[in-house]
Amino acid sequence: LVGSDGSIHPTIFAEMSALAARTGAINLGQGFPDEDGPAEVLEAARSAIANGVNQYPPGRGIPDLLSAVAEHQERFYGLRLDPAREVLVTAGATEALAAALLALIDGPDDEVVVFEPYYDSYAAVVALAGARLVTVPLRWPDFQPDLDELRAAVSDRTRVILVNDPHNPTGAVFGAAVRDEVVRLAEHHDAVIVTDEVYEHLVFDEPHVPIATLPGAGERTLTISSGGKTFSTTGWKIGWISGPAPLVDAVLAVKQFLTYVNGSPFQPAMATGLRLGDDFFQGIAGTLRAKRDLLGAGLRAAGFDVSMPAGSYFTVVDAAPLGATDAAAFCRALPERAGVVAIPLTAFATPDRLEKYATLVRFAACKRVEVLEEAASRLAALG
Ligand code: PMP
Ligand code: GLN
Repeated sequence: LVGSDGSIHPTIFAEMSALAARTGAINLGQGFPDEDGPAEVLEAARSAIANGVNQYPPGRGIPDLLSAVAEHQERFYGLRLDPAREVLVTAGATEALAAALLALIDGPDDEVVVFEPYYDSYAAVVALAGARLVTVPLRWPDFQPDLDELRAAVSDRTRVILVNDPHNPTGAVFGAAVRDEVVRLAEHHDAVIVTDEVYEHLVFDEPHVPIATLPGAGERTLTISSGGKTFSTTGWKIGWISGPAPLVDAVLAVKQFLTYVNGSPFQPAMATGLRLGDDFFQGIAGTLRAKRDLLGAGLRAAGFDVSMPAGSYFTVVDAAPLGATDAAAFCRALPERAGVVAIPLTAFATPDRLEKYATLVRFAACKRVEVLEEAASRLAALG
């Protein structure tokens, strides 16, 4: 049975959001905002529904969204894509990841290299695709990979190097040396780079650098993003993948039989969002940075050691100073002890690596200021 090694199991997000609902605790576990995104985007979906945009859209996605993705990649990163051949709309980043791996993996000897901890769907889709997962550890507190360990993980068996930058769950943004080494190794071993950049606009210090912009990367990189995080529409599940036409065609070949097409009225709305002005994009990063600072201060005041993230919705803490020895047990008890839900980092690691993350816990900062303040005051009671 696929996944009998434990790679396919109920997701931690369902478990922890159910715990929050059951206990009435503040949910700083699953990463979703508690406020709506830009009014123009919401209005565009409403108006599409009202105007009869309610049947199957084209398989690749509506041309206007394909163009908007290409325009966005050029506007922010100087990447030039042919919207008709080099972009594909998917059911969120999740489907893009699954379809890309199912398309690229040939057989059980193929390996997929990922940084660990990793977003939980990665191990599951590698298992579904029938490949081997090879992990490179990211260590507390800065969560940058050791380049020797990265080099040791990549070989001629590597079919895909799967990168997530900014990184969930750690909030790390990888340094230029890491990105360069990923490209060099992929070229050397003829691997494809699949890069998950769903937090591309949620970076706090420096502008995001897509791997596809690096010399030598363009011809072997599939870049994935999604509207959920950028436009606070995580429930709409509209994502996209872009890269060289033959790779995108391979992903489309699989995607047709996973979902066929995706939410027609949400696609023009995503196109509207991608074309919003610079103020919007700077605004969401600035707002989230302030929330990160607020949450970080609250967590520190509560007695945690805090790793301040450079991007993403998330902040990772070490709960050992509060006596934790098992992050999963700590998180299961947290609603009772403090009325807050968080996610143990062990949920993002393979079973034989758990000890590295044994006392680390992820909190989400993508909530209203008053919610973060209330969570901080509840957590202060822990010490
Ligand atoms: N990749 C990462 C790193 C994520 O954090 C998430 C979840 N939010 C996804 C992929 C899935 O994105 P989507 O909801 O667009 O499928
Ligand atoms: N990406 C979000 C997180 O990491 C939610 C994921 C999910 O619910 N599958 O928390």
